[in-house]
This record gives sequence, structure tokens and C-alpha cells, in this order.
Amino acid sequence: MASFCVAILGFAQKPDVQFIDKMAFQEQKSVKSKLAFVESVNYNETDFVYQRMEWEINPDTLFVKGEITTFFKSKIQNLDKVEFDLHQKLTVDSVIQNSKKVAFSHIQNKLTVTLSETVNSEQLDSVSVYYHGVPPDTKSGAFTKTVHNEVPNIWTLSEPYGAMEWWPCKQSLADKIDSIDIIVTSPEKFITAANGILISENVSNGKRTMHWKHRFPIATYLIAVSVTNYSRYSNFLELGDGRKIEILNYVYPEDLEETQQKTPVTTDVIALYNQLIGEYPFATEKYGHAQFGWGGGMEHQTVSFMGGFNFDLIAHELAHQWFGDYITLGSWHDIWLNEGFATYLTGLSYEHLLDGVWWPVWKRANVENILKKPGGSVYVKDTTKIGDIFSGRLSYSKGAYILHMLRFVLGEENFFRGLKSYFNDPLIANGFARTSQFVKHMETAGDTTLTEFFNDWFYGEGYPVYSATFLPAEANSTKVILSQIPSHQSVNFFEMPVPVRVYNFTKTDSADFILTNTKNNQEFVIHPNFKVADLKIDPELWLVSKTDKIVKSETQFNFNKMVVYPNPFTNSVSIRTAKNSEIITTEIVSVDGLLLKKTEGNNRNIDLSTLPRGVYIIRICTKSSHFEQQIVKQ
Ligand SMILES: [Zn+2]
Repeated sequence: MASFCVAILGFAQKPDVQFIDKMAFQEQKSVKSKLAFVESVNYNETDFVYQRMEWEINPDTLFVKGEITTFFKSKIQNLDKVEFDLHQKLTVDSVIQNSKKVAFSHIQNKLTVTLSETVNSEQLDSVSVYYHGVPPDTKSGAFTKTVHNEVPNIWTLSEPYGAMEWWPCKQSLADKIDSIDIIVTSPEKFITAANGILISENVSNGKRTMHWKHRFPIATYLIAVSVTNYSRYSNFLELGDGRKIEILNYVYPEDLEETQQKTPVTTDVIALYNQLIGEYPFATEKYGHAQFGWGGGMEHQTVSFMGGFNFDLIAHELAHQWFGDYITLGSWHDIWLNEGFATYLTGLSYEHLLDGVWWPVWKRANVENILKKPGGSVYVKDTTKIGDIFSGRLSYSKGAYILHMLRFVLGEENFFRGLKSYFNDPLIANGFARTSQFVKHMETAGDTTLTEFFNDWFYGEGYPVYSATFLPAEANSTKVILSQIPSHQSVNFFEMPVPVRVYNFTKTDSADFILTNTKNNQEFVIHPNFKVADLKIDPELWLVSKTDKIVKSETQFNFNKMVVYPNPFTNSVSIRTAKNSEIITTEIVSVDGLLLKKTEGNNRNIDLSTLPRGVYIIRICTKSSHFEQQIVKQ
């Protein structure tokens, strides 16, 4: 029965690396407007504690009318004005403080409200802004109308600086709003999906008013509404202690039947994340899906907006509720804290659910995606380059694989303990995090330092390209010589435990070993219970790496004694041979076979200072053997 399910669901559930690139591309589209956005210095003068948004939205017309009441605490003495981000295309009708109209200016997308009385530090006050207008068409899709089955749908996607295009807000990555109410009135036939829980729904005079409340801190870009003729249904996850989590689905009526088949798996994924990381942070309210007219998904807090309901997208957007929403990136350099984590949690869903059949496929797809190019770091060096931030290959795939490799390096138990401890850190819960904070939790969990690991894999670029030579040494012993060439010059050497699997002649028997690789051409002796006929590096894809050559040596002599070092080198290489073995010629050849240098005689030090950086082949002939190896000049 289980395999039957997989066969039926196969096409929809198969991990698709193009999906990762597609999602990255779409998230990139949504982020365009924000890079031109400069945070106001006045942000630091107030702490927004509560916002009540009342909107009139009719999906037939792209138009918004609203009243936004903001409760703020002053963080300075004698605060005399409050600033909001609000696009110039929207018109402010009036601003009220304590039932009285107050003065305001609206210039260059900033709404500045002059308070009638100054507010002291730690004092709470509020203002209400009344406004209306047609949100600008900035291509960022912040407030958009699309049509499905001839019915209009107005939906929002603010990530993270598009909010000002449809409401007066504070677009900060440093101040979450502690709690919100969203009240939307629309023609009776339309239904509104939004953050939090629905506390009332009233229909009168042909209009429907829906009131949503959310009592968790929320980043401005995660506040969203979508209005259309939704069908509604719920799935529930029983938590085992009498409590349950509601998964509230708002879907297009024409897709209801199909969607009802696809969303129940959400409960399995929540249960899995609960177990691996910690309980769904907004369990007392709900999780939800709202279908919208865009190809990707967006992890709005407690209500992911979904372009479709594939397993990948369900698992990815759900994962963001833990990493992205509850813990939000504190800087665009650290986008992997959102996207790498959501991608890896999707991988963990493939590992634990659907009989695990797609887990190897997910791993292979992501490794192949990363190996497409030799360089690029997960750390985003230049945050003005949108393509670098939303790189599917680096922020999503390689970010996810950093977590997978950490799991291998630290061990299963330590890794998940570290992840849980990061999730439970009161300094970042419901707030913002940087990579250094995550690293600290993992170092503590593993009782180790990860400086080298993050220098190589996060700040550095590329991956190791391994070669191995194996030869029988004694009875039941095999010698393995492991070498690596980093794909990018930013990393000298990847210090990693390297899993190898060896096989007997008939491939009926195999044994696994982990080689702690700390230097090049390192020799290891392993003891399988059979004569080794073949060797494979990293058969379970724990690492981002390529395998270049696996050599089975019949004679121990050549490979045991002939060593070219150092490799990689800077100016020259040295050659060590067996005792009494004289070198006759040494040749340096380019990778495409061009002879670049030749020396005759028993020359043990070869000067290569005039060669440009790159990969070469050294060929050494002695009376009894011919030796060939790749060397890299850095
Ligand atoms: Zn994402």
C-alpha cells in the first residue's frame, strides 16, 4: 500500500532541483524593491507594540482604503513625531491622536506625524492613520490583483519592504510588532485570509467583515491578506496531550477537490518538525494555507500563501514558520538562516516521510546543483546583488548542505540538540538572528570549535575533489591514500571526516569507514573482513564533494613510496621515491596534454615558480615504474 501511494504521488512529490532555482528566482523578484529602501533613523525612537489594521478591499478593483491604529512606546524623552513608511501614491486623509486631528507631512514615501503632545520614554501612545488609494505597480507584487476561473483575487506579498506600498508601517528588520488585529471588509461573496485566528465574521448589507487577531511578535513583511471567493476546510494535528493544531486551508473552489487530497500530509510534516526542532511556535493559533495567484510560495506568519500544493512547497513554507518567521534573519548576508534551513527541513521531510524513498534523490539533486560551478560562498558578500542573495545553488542548496555536513561532523544527537537549543534561545526567539549566534549553539552542542568549518564551507567557496588509491597491505588490511584538490582557491584544504565504502570482488560484501582527512595524500589503514576490490568515496552523500579518481594499485611499491609534495604547491614540488629508485625523467603537462617542462636525471626538487596558477599533471619515470598525478598551483 505504501509503495502504491508513492507511485501515485511520485510526480508531485519528487524533489525537483529546478523547483529550488525557481523558488529562489521568485523570491528574488519579490525582493527587488527593498534594496532601494533605506531604513529611517527615526525607527529607533519608537517601539511598535500593537497595530490594528482595518481595510476595505474589493477584489473587483485594485484599490485599498484603510485605518491603521498604531500603539507605540517612545524610546526617547520628548518624542514629538512618529514616522511611517508609506508610498507616495497613497493619499493620507487624516491622522488622529487622542480623538483629535494632528498635523502630518507625506514626502518621499515617509509619513511624518506631528504629535499634539510629546511622549516620554517608555510611555505608550497611539495614532490612527486614515488613507486610501491605488497601490503602485512596482512589479514587486506587494498588492496585486490576479484572476482565477474568472474570479478576481487581491493578495499581498511584502517581503520585506513592499508593505509600505499598501499600508503605513515601519519596515524594520529590528522591531517586530508585538501583536496585531486585521479587520477586512469586502463584498459578501469574498472571503479574507490573514495572519492569526479568525475571531469574528459578520455579514450585513451585502458586506462581509472578517476579524483576524495575532498575538505573537511579527516582522512587518510577514503581515498579509488575500481576498477572493475561497472555499475553506481544516486538517488537524492531534498533539497527544489533548491539544491540537488546526491547519486552515483557504483554496480556490475549482481546486478544492485536488487540494483536499494534497494538504493532509501537512500534519505529518508539522509533527516531524515538532519532534526534530521544537513545537510549532504558533500552535495556540493556527497554521494555514491560502492559495494565491503566483507560482511560488510565501511564508506569511501562520498563513503561507501558496501557488500550488506540492510536497516540496508545503514542507518548505511550513519550515519557514520556525526559521524565517519565529526566528528571522537579522541581515541579508545571512539569508541561509531562512532559505538554507527551510531547504534542509524539506530534505528531512523526504528522509522521514513518504517511506524515505525520495531522500537519496533530494540529496543527489542538491549536491549536483552545488557542483555546477566551482566557486561562490553561502555568505552573501555583496547584498546589493539580488542574484547572490536568492541564489538557489548557494543560499538554498549549499546552505542546506552546510547543515547536513554539520550533522555528519557533530553526530546525529549533538546536531539536533544544537538545532533545538538555537530554536529555544530566548535572545532570538520571536526576534532576529545572525550566523554567529547559530554557530555558538552548535559549538556548545558538539563541545568543539567550528571556526575552520565555517571558514571553509560558509565564508570560503567550492568543495573538495577527492582521489583515492587503495592497495592491500597485509592480511585483512587495506591501505588507502586520500588526496583532495579544492575546487576554488579560497580554501586551501577541507578538513573533513570522509566516509568511504569498500567492496569485495563479487560486490556481495561491503564495509564502511570514516577517514579523518587532515592533510593531503594522507595514508589510512582499514581492516575489512575481505580483500578489497573496489572503493567508493561518500556513498551516502554526506558531503559536498566530487570524486575524481579511484585507483586500485596492484603493487604496493609505487604508490606507497612515491609522493609529490606539497600539493597544492606555491613555487616548487618535491619528490620522494622508494630507496634506490632513481628518477629518469620528470615532466609537467597541462591538463590538455601540452608538455610544459621536462627535467632529466634524478632531480628531487622541481622549480615551477614560472607557471601560472592552475591544475597540472606531473609524470615521473623511474627504471621500474611510471607515476602520474595531478598537482595544483595556488
Ligand atoms: Zn523560502
